[in-house]
Formats: sequence, C-alpha cells, structure tokens
Amino acid sequence: MKLKDLKTISNGLTQTEKMPVLFLGHGSPMNAIEENEFVIGFKNVGKDIPKPNAILIVSAHWETKGTFVTAMDKPRTIHDFRGFPKALFDIEYPAPGCPELAFETKKIITKTQIGLDEQWGLDHGAWTVIKHIYPNADVPIIQMSIDYTQGGQYHYELAKELASLRNKGVLIVGSGNMVHNLAMIAWDKLDADNYGYDWAIEAIEKMKEYILSDNFQPLINFKNQGKIFDLAIPSQEHYLPLIYSLALKERYEKITLFNDKAIGGSLTMTSLKIS
Ligand code: ZN
Repeated sequence: MKLKDLKTISNGLTQTEKMPVLFLGHGSPMNAIEENEFVIGFKNVGKDIPKPNAILIVSAHWETKGTFVTAMDKPRTIHDFRGFPKALFDIEYPAPGCPELAFETKKIITKTQIGLDEQWGLDHGAWTVIKHIYPNADVPIIQMSIDYTQGGQYHYELAKELASLRNKGVLIVGSGNMVHNLAMIAWDKLDADNYGYDWAIEAIEKMKEYILSDNFQPLINFKNQGKIFDLAIPSQEHYLPLIYSLALKERYEKITLFNDKAIGGSLTMTSLKIS
C-alpha cells in the first residue's frame, strides 16, 4: 500500500455520527441472486443508514482458534458452499479491504491478541447479504473471525470493545441466523411462507422477547436455556454474530426487527437494526 492511500483511508476513519449496528439473518446463499422478500428487507435497511466509511462484519462462516481480522487490500470473494447453480459461483463482490480498520481493531481490542489475516476474504455470510445493501461494492470491508473455543460471555465482552468504531463511520454487522438447525430442515416446505416448527417458533419468540426488553443475559447464556434453545442452536457459529451485535447496543438505542420469518421449519431469517 502506498503512503498516500493509507492517508486517504485514515482520513476516512475520522469521527462521525454514531453508526447503527446490524444483525442479518443470511439464510441460503441463493439470497445473493434471488429477488425475494428477504432481499428487499436487506435493501431497505440500507436506505436509512448513512454511507459508512467501512464495514466490519462477523460472519458465521469464519471460525478460527483465536480472533483474526482480514487485513488485505483486496479481499477475494469466497464461494464456500456446494451444490448451488453456476450463477452463484460466478458472482464476485470486489469491495476493497480496509487495512487501516484492521489495524485500528487490533489496537482497540484488549481482551485478546487480534491476528491480522491475509488469506481469508469475504465468505458467503458476508458478501451474499452486503451486496444487496451496497451493490456497487464501494464500501471497504473487513471480516472478523469467531473464536470457536470461546462461549457467549466471552464473545459479548469482546464485541463491546468494538464500540468506538461506531463513531468512526464503521458499520458493524453480525451475519448468521438466530434459529439455525440445518439437520432438521423440511426441504419440501422451503417455499411455504413463514413455516417454523413449534419449537422454532417458541425459540424465536423467546429470543425476540429478550432482545426487545434489553434482557441479554439469557441470550448470552444460551446454552443453559433448555431444550428449545438447544434445538434452535445446535452449534453456536450462526448464533454468536447476534451476540456481537447486541453487545454494541447503548441503553438509549432502540432495536428494530425485520425479515422476521421462519423458513423450512428450523431456520429463521429474523434480522435487526440497532440505532
Ligand atoms: Zn450460514
């Protein structure tokens, strides 16, 4: 990177109004190329957000031992899925990286040593949804990985340390799914509108109740909430991005839900904006 470029980016991370925070239920990679109600939801949420200087996204699809941020100039588009049409593999999302934001993130996090990554890029948890919000791929973006050795409380506390980035024009996004049990998906019901199993509905209703009443502790301790949560969260990677987003909510802010529907019985697309 040339010194001049660094200066330009650096100028981009100056003090701004506090940016909102998003949690996006990303669901199927096909959302990248389909026109459906969820895609409309992603597009609409972007309309009310000032154009960010950069995006930091925590995707369910990048799990590591320890925590890393992507620090390359040009993150590649990762097609980390199988059995989908060629049209999906053909998509590139050429948004620039933001090494300056990677360095800044490493600097402000004290809970752990943040590694700078040059190998990853943008996985489908990131690009399939961000492309709808910023279709011109003109907002620099970095990913932050999920340390799979750690639980809810650790991730909640780690995420809190990202708060100052919101005042530097950084849009922080968690991308996963609140209820995500692929082993139980009703493949024959994927086209049914808002179809959730009883336990999935019960789980998402409970989650929303906690979310909308600022009662995050049960959500952080999701492993001790009984059978319904165990079914909704059989593994933590799609759920933890929600914890990253909630950790950044200030007391006076409100949470707006959108794309609040279940699909295929055991998956919810429920997304939210904190502002
Ligand atoms: Zn996913």
